[in-house]
Amino acid sequence: MEPKTPVLTTSKSSDLFARAQKAIPGGVNSPVRAFKAVGGQPLFIASGKGSRITDADGNSFIDYVGSWGPLILGHANPQVLAAVREALEKGTSFGAPTESEVVLAEMVKALVPSIELVRFVNSGSEATMGALRVARGYTGRQKIIKFAGCFHGAVDSLLIKAGSGATTLGVPDSAGVTPGVAQDTLLAEFNDLAGVEALFAAHKGQVAALIVEPVPGNMGMILPEEGFLNGLRDVCTREGAVLIFDEVMSGFRVALGGAQALYSIRPDLTTFGKVIGGGFPVGGYGGRREIMEQVAPLGPVYQSGTLSGNPVAMAAGISMLKTLQADGFYPSLEKKSQRLMEGLTQAASDAAIPLTTLFRGGMMGVFFSAVPVKNYSQVQALGADPYNRFFRGMLEEGIYLAPSAFEAWFVSSAHSYEDLDQTVQAARKVLKRL
Ligand SMILES: *Cc1c(COP(=O)(O)O)cnc(C)c1O
Repeated sequence: MEPKTPVLTTSKSSDLFARAQKAIPGGVNSPVRAFKAVGGQPLFIASGKGSRITDADGNSFIDYVGSWGPLILGHANPQVLAAVREALEKGTSFGAPTESEVVLAEMVKALVPSIELVRFVNSGSEATMGALRVARGYTGRQKIIKFAGCFHGAVDSLLIKAGSGATTLGVPDSAGVTPGVAQDTLLAEFNDLAGVEALFAAHKGQVAALIVEPVPGNMGMILPEEGFLNGLRDVCTREGAVLIFDEVMSGFRVALGGAQALYSIRPDLTTFGKVIGGGFPVGGYGGRREIMEQVAPLGPVYQSGTLSGNPVAMAAGISMLKTLQADGFYPSLEKKSQRLMEGLTQAASDAAIPLTTLFRGGMMGVFFSAVPVKNYSQVQALGADPYNRFFRGMLEEGIYLAPSAFEAWFVSSAHSYEDLDQTVQAARKVLKRL
């Protein structure tokens, strides 16, 4: 007889979810948290430390969500906490410039070579919104090109085949986005340069910007094929369109300088979020001086924020980015990704289950597919099964994965090799009975 799967006690989470649903739409403040895609109810998290989180019922899990990307140092990192405490004591917000904003901006400029000027906002969505507006203001053009399956936040013009939560819920085109807005968004398939060329040809002189996740992580993780990002750079230069790398996820995650450092491409604009805020709400957009000089108060493109550059959030971001610059940080992180992905691949192979895995830095991708996946059509063809059963099995084994088949996995510097090996052991069990 197979040993019986332990069943999680979730009565406190269930009670909280019942209360939450009476006060918050769907009981959550961001849709992917609801576990709708994988079935069941979300766990309410009470605390986190290092690689682990503990839920309201006291269940402890090794966490590979990491707050969906920001927590590259794990939960409650002592340095970040100390920096935040120090900042807190000095006051939480002034609506006037503070030194910490300058320090973080200088750090971003030093780490990401394409950044000449950067504006901080409060989320990745705000960053992409700002980047598109300034690209349109700078070029005087209206249309933008995005890729199916690339997610750029809950921004009207970008909620078109947006991957991630939108895919999971089966609403690739959100209600409430007007046809007027949608018609200015042109869709291409990732890794299909010819398709991009065709869009530029069909809309000659009308494309303000092309926005792309250089290493997509919102349709699962996908890698750009040889020459694809370079091709995008060339066509944007030729057509006078602004190339925007949305590095909200890949920034400071796949490499210290982001995907643009990894692939040696210089985008015109870059958007940041997630890691840059050290677990606090920070986003940013920046790039070429002559484009960013269009932003108010220097130029005619308006953008503002009451809490933008918040000193507590800046302190967390500064502390985070300082720690990431330690010698050997990324090689050590990537070794952990590799250990986990190789372990999983072996476990799946032993269980005769088709699985492909990939990783860059602290970002990983897992598909239940025999062959590598290169675009959104292929991701959709795979569907959510057997991931959903894998997810539930892993949760019962104390491993917290993203509650959706279409997400990247994240490892942090706080994950130990013991954590990783325990995860592979759990996966062996779960894959065997899948
Ligand atoms: C998460 C994400 C966003 C949105 O960031 P928020 O902080 O959730 O608004 C935008 N782009 C990419 C690539 C992301 O992964």
